[in-house]
Formats: sequence, structure tokens, C-alpha cells
Amino acid sequence: MAGPTAGGAGDAAARMIGAVPWDELRDQARCNAAAVGGGAVPDTATGLADLPVTGPDEIFAVSHVVTRQTGGLLLSSGGTTGQPKLTYVAYHQALDRLLRQWRPLVTGDLLLNLFTPGRLWASHYYMQALAQRCGADVAPFGPITPEEVDGWLPTLRRLGVNAVAGTPTALADLARGVLDAGATTPVQKIIWMAEPWTEEKVTIVRKAFPQVQLWGNYGSVETYVIATNTPTCDTSVLHLMPDQVLEPDDDGALLSRVGDGWTVPTVRYRLGDRLAAATCACGGPDGLRVLGRADDAIKLHGALVGIGAVLEIVRAAPGVRDAQLQLRRATGERHSVGAVTVHYTGDADPAAVRTRLLHQFYDLGVVAQHHPAAIAVEQVPQLRRVDRTNKIPPMIWLEPSE
Ligand SMILES: [Zn+2]
Repeated sequence: MAGPTAGGAGDAAARMIGAVPWDELRDQARCNAAAVGGGAVPDTATGLADLPVTGPDEIFAVSHVVTRQTGGLLLSSGGTTGQPKLTYVAYHQALDRLLRQWRPLVTGDLLLNLFTPGRLWASHYYMQALAQRCGADVAPFGPITPEEVDGWLPTLRRLGVNAVAGTPTALADLARGVLDAGATTPVQKIIWMAEPWTEEKVTIVRKAFPQVQLWGNYGSVETYVIATNTPTCDTSVLHLMPDQVLEPDDDGALLSRVGDGWTVPTVRYRLGDRLAAATCACGGPDGLRVLGRADDAIKLHGALVGIGAVLEIVRAAPGVRDAQLQLRRATGERHSVGAVTVHYTGDADPAAVRTRLLHQFYDLGVVAQHHPAAIAVEQVPQLRRVDRTNKIPPMIWLEPSE
């Protein structure tokens, strides 16, 4: 293919993940602009950097246009904090593209689908369609608590469940229940997405299912699958699917894709995550790592604090299993925090965890000297979840009344 690939100036292009010929991207940009009735792509544009960044409004408009002949699923992401981002998803759910490079299920498999159904969330319906297209059987189950597992195990065994799909949180709940029951199961395959693994969750899952193979996806409800992970990959590395290019950016990576068969074509759509190129043990191309949410940083009494960095320190403390931040707003701007409470599970001593955090995170130590009440550490029996998705979010904004 003649002509430059995606991107403009040298170092920006060097940081990109994937490559798509510029003329195809330009044509897609024109097509999308026409769909939303927006401005034309200027003839002077020579690279992605010359095109505007797009957001949820474009996704909604373009996805509406591309599904008018067939109809679609109306789905949404977010809505827990802020307005939901709505998308029309074609009934094919981009499975033709996906199955060319990622096929976790075969005929004869029985998939236990632990994703929460309803409330416009995509994952449950995506897993139903995946099983159908692979010729596998599927049990649309929804989340199961560790306490419920013992009672269901005879049924799951009788049915022959050998594959499970869920968030790492849901998969860890199942694993905990299996271990508590002192049972073994013939689960061979796990499909995970929608959350990163934590050390605790991947450890308990591998303990409960020693022979299991992990198959992962990265994407969003708006874009569907962007990248895939197979059993030969590092758990934290995913491979960008072809015909796409990602521009890493601290405010959220930008996704552009061309060709047919996606749920929605996008040009410079801003994802909610920071991503970086990565190499993978499997040797596959276009590896990426999710570094964290783009809105990860908060301001605590003048100090810029990365939520991921705090959680990393706390989770590494001896006796801590998992952790989450509870944030109380300072008066005024949205990301300005008056007080942080670190919640953690496990048998660690709260004072020791706090000392470790303030010692290892220098700016927090300084804040604590001047505002001792601004940083608290509490042991809790369990972390809070999002009702809609059963995920454990890294942070919870507390209401003034809480
Ligand atoms: Zn890999």
C-alpha cells in the first residue's frame, strides 16, 4: 500500500499501536463526518493529528446510521458516575472479525455466563452470541456469590460446565466458592474482560482451576472488542485487532478503525483508558497494556494523587488482599478531594498500611503532616461494587450524606 500509515509527526507516529494506511483513515473520517452531519475533512489533512478527536455523541450518531437497515441492540456504558454513553450495536456484534483471530469456544463446550444481564450492559449478550456462533452451549447465569456456589456445584457438574465467562471479580467469587466447598471442577477455559486482574483475583482463580486457560478481551461497550488475549499471552498484554490504530494519550487513548464488520467505525474516538505499546510472551504483534483510567488522578489538598499508584502500594502491603478508595469531595471542582479513606480486605494492621502508604507515596506523606484527617485507612469485610456490573471500582465518590 502506497503512502504513509496513520499519524503525522515522527515521534507521535512512533508511539502508535497498529498501523492503517492514511487514505483509508481519511475516507473513514469523511464517511463518519457525513453520518453525523459534521464538518468535512479538510483536504489539507495529512495525518490523524489533523483530524478532530471524537466522543460519545459521534459514536451514538454513527452507530445509529450504520444499524438502520438491520436494527440493533441499544447498549450503554457508564451511568454509574455521569451520563450513560449510548450505542446502537449491530446484532452481529462484530463476531466475524473477532473469530478470525480469537476463538475460545468449540462445539461441545458449555459456557457459564456470569456477566450481569440487563440495564443496557453489553457483556452478557456478547457472551451469549459468542457461544452461539462457536456452536457451544451456554448457560445465562449472572453473578454467583461464594456462598451460593456449593449449592449449585452438583448442577454445574451434571451439566458439564467446562468454560466460564465473567469479570475478574465474578470469576474470583466463583473460585472462592469452589475452594470453600473443598470441591474440584472441570473448568478448562475462562473468558474475562471489563476489569483488570488483580494479583489476588488471578491467584485464587488459578488455585481453584489449576488447569484453566485464560482468554481475555479489551474494549468498551461503545467500540466492542478492540484487542484480544490468549492463553499463551501475558495476563496484562492484549493484541490490537487488525485494521485499527491507537494513539496513546494521557487523557485517554484514541481509537481509529477502518473496514466492514465492526459494530461501529471510529476515527480518533477517545477511550477512557491510558494505554501503552507492550511486547508479549506469545510473540504476537501490536501488543498493548492498559495503564489505568484517564481520570485516575485526583487532587488532595494541592497534591496530585494517582489512584492506581495508591492502590498498587496498598495491595502490595503484607496481609492486604484488595483495596479501594473512598473519596469525599472538597467543595468546588469535580476532581478536588477533601478526604480519602483507603478500604482494604485482608488481615493487615490498618496503622501499618497507613504508615507504609505515607512513607512510599511522598506527596501523601506531606499532605498527612498538614491534614492528618485527610487520609484514613480502614479494614473492611468487603469492598463496594457497582450494582449494574458487579465490578469492584478503584474508587467510590461518597455522597455528602455518607
Ligand atoms: Zn500475546
